Amino acid sequence: MKIIDGKSVSEHLLADISLKLQSQKKNRSPHLAIIMVGKHPASETYVNAKIKTCEKYGFKGTLYHFPETITEKKLLDEIQKLNDYHEVDGIIVQLPLPKHISENQVIETISPQKDVDGFHPVNIGKMAKNLPALLPATPGGILELLKFYQIETAGKHCVVIGRSNIVGFPMSILMGRNSYPGNCTVTMCHSKTQNLEFYTQNADIIIAAAGQPELIKGNMVKEGVVVIDVGIHRVPDKTKKSGFKLIGDVEFDTVAPKSSFITPVPGGVGPMTIAVLLKNTFETWLQSNK
Ligand code: NDP
Repeated sequence: MKIIDGKSVSEHLLADISLKLQSQKKNRSPHLAIIMVGKHPASETYVNAKIKTCEKYGFKGTLYHFPETITEKKLLDEIQKLNDYHEVDGIIVQLPLPKHISENQVIETISPQKDVDGFHPVNIGKMAKNLPALLPATPGGILELLKFYQIETAGKHCVVIGRSNIVGFPMSILMGRNSYPGNCTVTMCHSKTQNLEFYTQNADIIIAAAGQPELIKGNMVKEGVVVIDVGIHRVPDKTKKSGFKLIGDVEFDTVAPKSSFITPVPGGVGPMTIAVLLKNTFETWLQSNK
């Protein structure tokens, strides 16, 4: 069994981007604009981590923080301003948004050329057609992990658990594309799937993104399976100074001994998400001629 070390792969990827960045003769750094609405302690933590990573690797990261009461129209106008601002290369909106603001409207207002989260229908469409596109960060990060560890995917049965717009759905498309990583026979499971273990027991690769703590147990997988655990859950743990620990959608202790490769939580998929966000921002910056 081999642990997939997302922390070290993400550092490797970011160091490589940073080197390429230094070799470019441009008069400004890649610039990521992060929009946040209202107060959410978890979102603030994620946003701070993104800005810190930007700074560490020579990017500029700016937080545009709006009050909970901002109208949808005003928010869309602000996004339009960032679309038009030539010194911004990437725009992301930290979810969730307040209920009075349509997530779809917001995503569709971001210019597809600056949509470094890869959520715009234009980028999703290009991804589905296997055209060059900005890939959603978490699925993009999983592809980077599979590549880094040279994990064979062609002809394998890949079971993706979850069909959300940000993880499960794009992941199932990517694993079925005619490319590497890809060329899998893909089964996409969701909350209405009956007899989940029938699918997982027949999987060569499992990508678990159900948002259910330790849903996948050792008796649900076969020997030699590759396991990518996307889930992140905080559970109380008196033995930790913080009072909690992080677990995934996979019961690590029972699944790991049967796996050929497995991502831990934390330190697996999580660090890759930020790395791909910066990779996407670097790519849009390279395309911009200003
Ligand atoms: P969502 O809640 O949006 O989607 C969960 C999906 O899982 C849904 O499609 C749902 O089905 C399906 N599902 C729920 N329960 C079951 C079940 N018992 N069996 C099979 N399928 C089930 O979650 P996200 O995709 O946003 O995130 C998934 C997990 O990944 C979360 O723990 C999240 O915190 C984590 N995450 C981690 C990231 C990282 O960087 N590491 C980034 C993004 C997310 P249905 O469609 O029928 O409701």
